[in-house]
Amino acid sequence: MDCKTISMFRSMQQQAIRQQYNEIYAHELAHKNAAGSLAGPIVIEKDANGIPTGGHVSIQMPTLDKEHPEKTIEHADVVIKSAMAPSDPSDQDYKVASQAKAIKFQAERIQKQHKLDYYA
Ligand SMILES: [Zn+2]
Repeated sequence: MDCKTISMFRSMQQQAIRQQYNEIYAHELAHKNAAGSLAGPIVIEKDANGIPTGGHVSIQMPTLDKEHPEKTIEHADVVIKSAMAPSDPSDQDYKVASQAKAIKFQAERIQKQHKLDYYA
């Protein structure tokens, strides 16, 4: 390849990297925006050549609050919404959403139990 071809190739490669970075960033940003204060910073992972390979945002998972199940339900709803916020959710995103749904389900059972106790 002559110099001109190499520089053209490099700029195409740069553009592809840039585009990939933007796609990953947009995906993570969708999570972050939906999670609000429950989200950590956006992390973009790159390989040894500086090519972005993936990214993540850590989202605080709900814990089961037996005294205040409504708080757990509210928290779980935000996590589920955030996990499904991008147009292209990953396997990990589905996993996070189903974990949050499981915790929400437990909280709803406790909430029903509380109501029964109240009317007993
Ligand atoms: Zn994701």
